[in-house]
Amino acid sequence: MNFLAGETRPDHVPGEYLAKWAQDLPKISLHRHLEGSLRLRTLAEIASEYHITLPVYEVEALRPYVQITSDPPNFHNYIGKFSLLRHFYVSQEIIQRIVSEVIADAAQDNVRYMELRFNPVALSRIRNFALSDAVDWVVAAAAKAQETYHCRTCLILQIPREDPVAIAEEIVDIAIAHLGPQVRAIDLAGDEVHHPPQLFAVPFRRAKQAGLHIVGHAGEAMGAESVRNALTYLDAERIGHGIRSIEDPAVLQMLRDRGTTLEVCPTSNFQTGAAPNPPDHPLYDLYHLGIRVTVNTDNPSISATSLSNEYVVSVRDIGLKPGAIYRTLRNAVDAAFIPDDECDWLWDTIYDGLAPYPGAREIFSAPR
Ligand SMILES: [Zn+2]
Repeated sequence: MNFLAGETRPDHVPGEYLAKWAQDLPKISLHRHLEGSLRLRTLAEIASEYHITLPVYEVEALRPYVQITSDPPNFHNYIGKFSLLRHFYVSQEIIQRIVSEVIADAAQDNVRYMELRFNPVALSRIRNFALSDAVDWVVAAAAKAQETYHCRTCLILQIPREDPVAIAEEIVDIAIAHLGPQVRAIDLAGDEVHHPPQLFAVPFRRAKQAGLHIVGHAGEAMGAESVRNALTYLDAERIGHGIRSIEDPAVLQMLRDRGTTLEVCPTSNFQTGAAPNPPDHPLYDLYHLGIRVTVNTDNPSISATSLSNEYVVSVRDIGLKPGAIYRTLRNAVDAAFIPDDECDWLWDTIYDGLAPYPGAREIFSAPR
């Protein structure tokens, strides 16, 4: 089947073919949390080796504790999965093993470039590691694994909104000290409703002045106003999710004027209740309104998903044509926080990988 110049109607494509198309495409993952990407098998192994207390120890029995299974869609259920997932960071070896496995899994999914974000506080809390030590370990493991698995990986340090601003300042200090080929950016993550971006304007300004890129979670649990605030007070270049921008035409115009990219994570949005059930996910309208959208996984192990699967969901359930996916790849290339001297490599990698798909390179490389 001559799958797609961009106009192929998704409902005319057999499911198996769609899955193979998504798997084979060269992909870019901009929004993925380390702590939500652990293999269940690894969790069970670590628990028995390090005598970590779990409600159950068998992989399938463990699944509902760390993964959305039949849970009703809401934030509480989704975020609740982290409470168990954060018990596992008890040694440098484990943290580095997890980083390496996440990169291996992305490479297996044909992700060529990934930006992996993590919360240094979450990695350090159980054993009282110094935040900077935990960051050192992640950086070293990512640098090694990206070579082993051929998936270039940059890192984003998360600022947890629930913690005092002093923690944000400390993480910014660490991010500035580590700014280089691996550490590229900071992100504001956590409870949007009670901890608005205004509280973090000072450390984010300092980070930007030091050369770090800026992303903020917004427009997920809260409406378009939080996106406006992330743009205004954090000077965010990208917005994590941002799907509820759709509720305010003025915010949409702001996104267009600034060329801001949204990191959309469809399955996560369904599971948290941030988006209505398919096919009514805002991704479709955002794309057609000229917003720079990208498709991502958020937390693959909580959602039992992969980036390939998110492409399938975007086409099969949300109704984007494959051509739109090619364009989201272009958006991801343009919005990547990769060092300047690697931008040509990233473009060429995706462009070359699109060769088998009729018309894909034209859509990818079309002027804005
Ligand atoms: Zn996220």
